Amino acid sequence: MAEARKYWNERIETMPAGKMRLLQEEKLRKQVRRVYDKSDYYRRRFDQAGIAPEEINTLDDLEKLPFITTQELRDSQQESMARDRHPFGLHNITARGEIRLVCATSGTTGFPTFGGLTKADLAVSYELAARCLWWAGIRPGDVLLHAFNLSMFSAGVPPVLMSIDYGACVVPIGLPGTEKLIQMARITCPDVLGCTPSYAEYLIDKIPQTAGISPSELGLRFLMCTGETGAGEPNIIAKLEQAYGAHVLDCHGATEAAPFAYVSCQEHSGMHFFAPDHVFCEWIDPDTGRRLPEEDGIVGEKVVTHLDKESAPLIRYRRGDIERVHFSRCACGHTSHRIQVIGRVDDMLKVKGVMVYPSAVKDVVNGFIPRTTGEIRVVLDKPGPRVDPPLKIKVEHAPGLAGQALDELKKDLRAKIQQMLRVNPEIILVPPQSLARSEHKGRLIEKTYEQPS
Ligand SMILES: [Zn+2]
Repeated sequence: MAEARKYWNERIETMPAGKMRLLQEEKLRKQVRRVYDKSDYYRRRFDQAGIAPEEINTLDDLEKLPFITTQELRDSQQESMARDRHPFGLHNITARGEIRLVCATSGTTGFPTFGGLTKADLAVSYELAARCLWWAGIRPGDVLLHAFNLSMFSAGVPPVLMSIDYGACVVPIGLPGTEKLIQMARITCPDVLGCTPSYAEYLIDKIPQTAGISPSELGLRFLMCTGETGAGEPNIIAKLEQAYGAHVLDCHGATEAAPFAYVSCQEHSGMHFFAPDHVFCEWIDPDTGRRLPEEDGIVGEKVVTHLDKESAPLIRYRRGDIERVHFSRCACGHTSHRIQVIGRVDDMLKVKGVMVYPSAVKDVVNGFIPRTTGEIRVVLDKPGPRVDPPLKIKVEHAPGLAGQALDELKKDLRAKIQQMLRVNPEIILVPPQSLARSEHKGRLIEKTYEQPS
């Protein structure tokens, strides 16, 4: 019986690490040869690095090759627009007509970057999404109300196509406005609501106001969240799960890497990676570029290599994403590595040589809820990443806290941050609701040097 099946692809998902490595290396050799032969862009890069394709035989050999940065990717795409009339980059190795779907980033940090999927690439993306959905507990036939902007963005049209291929009943509602969305949810009775975690949070109050029912009366089984980091934060997960009576899934993908390759499990212990046979991930020290050993809990910048992608394959692409990676076995039973998105390389601070990310500070402070609200600001008196100690951190204390309770909170916060992040902080407690709330993630830094005096 189909229900008895534990994995979508048992052979790949339970493959022992050594065997997976052999599979990855076999694909890597072919891919390196292919990009060298088919693209003058890669040929030039390899030649400049003094590396011949036959020298790349193992995953360790990959370290001989240079990284592709986001800027280089954009330059490559600008050049292909001028030269070849397509935005997929000079590193693209397929004919323009082979590409079936064009994806793009939202372009929040500049000109969008593009990704293209051939028929075979689409088939891979369907397979990866199916592995994710199955492990998460979503089944073919489940009704998915997909409330993301229906665009080329990796949470837009691509997952709609993947979910349809999987066999879900997709209601591609998009973002029609809150009233319409709630009305459609009542009509279509979805099992799954796909939206950003902040939108799901916003709807908690709006559903009773608009429809006169509690969010749990929608009968959802899952909230499938992506686009922001909130669905990995324990306090937000708890709030959403309590309000909706549904399980929160944190999903992740990237236009240039793999559109839908990560999902969290019942344990909420990070997002499992479902694409090891198609995308090889390594993590580096962003300062030195050296690969980090695969040890549980490492924090580093992710570098991805497409092992068999046809359209515009990337070899050692560093997108600037900082992740914490867990290699230990998850209690859910899946052996894949799990990631937590920590932030961007640009957010990195260095205090006496120790790397600190504002989001990691927030994680520690979140552990002090309900004594704090969880809201923080890291205060910088001059541009980073180098910060003279102590690291100044504003923390909102909870309402009703005063006197000795505040002193104790300050002392406990200082000790915990020292222990967890290995930096010496100066904790500045501020009243609840005194720090401005922002729709945007990552507004965790207060730059005093930028404020008008
Ligand atoms: Zn798990």
